[in-house]
Amino acid sequence: MISENIRKLKEKIDEAARRAGRKPEDIKLVAVSKHFPAEAIIEAYAAGQTLFGENYIQELQAKKDLVPPEVSFHFIGHLQSNKAKIAAATCSMIETVDSLKLGRALNSHLESLNRSIDVLMQVNIGEDANKAGIEEDQAEELLIQLNALPRVRVRGLMTMPPFDANPELSRPHFRNLRKLADRLADKKLFTESAHPELSMGMSHDFHIAIEEGATIIRVGTAIFGQRSMPIE
Ligand SMILES: *Cc1c(COP(=O)(O)O)cnc(C)c1O
Repeated sequence: MISENIRKLKEKIDEAARRAGRKPEDIKLVAVSKHFPAEAIIEAYAAGQTLFGENYIQELQAKKDLVPPEVSFHFIGHLQSNKAKIAAATCSMIETVDSLKLGRALNSHLESLNRSIDVLMQVNIGEDANKAGIEEDQAEELLIQLNALPRVRVRGLMTMPPFDANPELSRPHFRNLRKLADRLADKKLFTESAHPELSMGMSHDFHIAIEEGATIIRVGTAIFGQRSMPIE
C-alpha cells in the first residue's frame, strides 16, 4: 500500500511540476513518518524513498536505529534547545529553526561533533497563533544572526500555513513565503546559494505549493495513511 501511495504521489508531483513549468526533480519529497513505526519507513525505503520527516526527537532517535543507514531525516517539529544535541547528531536538516538561542545551541553541539548542518528558518507566514515560527518581519534579522554561526548553514525557509480543507487558501501564504525568500536572496543573505529552498505543502495542498515554487514538500497522510493520533 505504501509503495502504491508513493507511486501515485510521484505522478501528482510530476503533474503539478509540469503545470508550473518546473522540473519534478527540483522538488524533494520528505515522507513524514511521525507516529508510524520503523517498519513503515522500511517499506517506503524499499519503494525508493530515502528522505523522511519526524516531529519528535525521541521518536526519531528510536526509529533511526531500526532503519537502513541510507535513510536520512529532516526534523520538522518544534525543537527545544535542550534537544539540539540529539537533533544535530541524527538529522540531515533541521527545518524548524526559529530562534537565535536554538541556532547557537546547534552550533555549539556541531562544534564538538566537528560537522555542519543545513537548516531552514520556520516562518509563521499566516500569523497563526497555534503555529511556531518567527514573524515575517523578524526573518531578516534572524537570518543575519544565524549567518554568523559557522556550523549552521541556512538554506531557505519553511512554513506551515493555517489549516483549511480548501487547499487554495494556502496559496497566498505560499506565495508570501516565496516573496520573502526572494527579498532575502536579493540581499544576498542566503550565503550558500542564490536559490533558497522553500519547504511548503503537505498532503492536501502540496500541488498548490509546487505551483508556488516549493522545492521541498512534506507529505505524511498521503503516503502512510491517517495517523491514529492527530498532531499539529
Ligand atoms: C505532520 C506534518 C506534515 C505532514 O502532514 P500530512 O497532512 O500528513 O501530509 C508536514 N509538515 C509538518 C510540519 C507536520 O507536522
